[in-house]
Amino acid sequence: NNKAIATPTKTKEILNKYGFSFKKSLGQNFLIDVNILEKIIEVAGIDKEIAAIEIGPGMGALTEQLAIHSSKVVAFEIDQRLVPILEDTLQSYTNIEIVNEDILKADIKSVMKKFFKEGQEVKIVANLPYYITTPILMNLLMEQLPVSSITVMIQKEVADRMAAEPNTKSYGSLSIAIQYYTHAKVAVNVPKTVFMPQPNVDSSVLHLSLRETPPVTVKDESFFFTLVQACFAQRRKTLRNNLARHFSDTLTKEQIESKLQLAGIDGTRRGESLNMNEFADLANSFYPA
Ligand code: SAM
Repeated sequence: NNKAIATPTKTKEILNKYGFSFKKSLGQNFLIDVNILEKIIEVAGIDKEIAAIEIGPGMGALTEQLAIHSSKVVAFEIDQRLVPILEDTLQSYTNIEIVNEDILKADIKSVMKKFFKEGQEVKIVANLPYYITTPILMNLLMEQLPVSSITVMIQKEVADRMAAEPNTKSYGSLSIAIQYYTHAKVAVNVPKTVFMPQPNVDSSVLHLSLRETPPVTVKDESFFFTLVQACFAQRRKTLRNNLARHFSDTLTKEQIESKLQLAGIDGTRRGESLNMNEFADLANSFYPA
């Protein structure tokens, strides 16, 4: 452990050696605590049967632990300045590939084909750049990558929203979007002190286990997600009001009432009280035949 990259001393040593300066715009907050890394590895369920994809290896703190515990690691890093640093810090590991690409633009499936054996179980593990957490996760999920789980360190407030249950303050369209694809769980809350430099927000490790099939059947996925968003457009308003606003150009008040009735949902309820099944019924009832 005292040789690990993820210590304050070692991290400062690497910073000095390369004259590296953090880019805030790339969400560069590096982990300097091996205990947290081991916790992430445990939550992700990484062992020698598993291969890992990492997003944003930074100086290699998590990459190193993934290399130790998994069979192979492929890490996508956008910042070219980090490539020679990673080659140095991770030189004693032979099971790591660094891909110098933006994860939002990379052809992840082809990279997986190139580096992983067919049938290999793959998990995604990352300490994500916080400025693009949601786009990264939604992209990964919508691409339907052949991975079994995604374990990420993200801003606590966002993790809470992604894993939220109905009738809670954090519950919203993001909860539905994430839980349509995964079983979501906030595994552990993490203090700011384990990062260098420290971020302004608290963090959590979120574990997403991918579903084999969606939990509900909807006629049209994009219509479903848009309707869910509309139901939360004004949180304090009733479903009836939010829906009337959303469909103001296409449906009369009477039509909205009859579609609510068809779905078996009381229009005086608020979006935050509906579970995934009820949103699916609602979307299927409102979907233009
Ligand atoms: N994994 C390292 C650690 O835990 O110490 C670094 C984590 S840091 C929060 C986020 C990393 O993601 C940085 O290295 C940053 O350069 C990288 N990054 C930011 N945007 C990216 C993108 N679009 N694609 C790939 N990597 C990105």
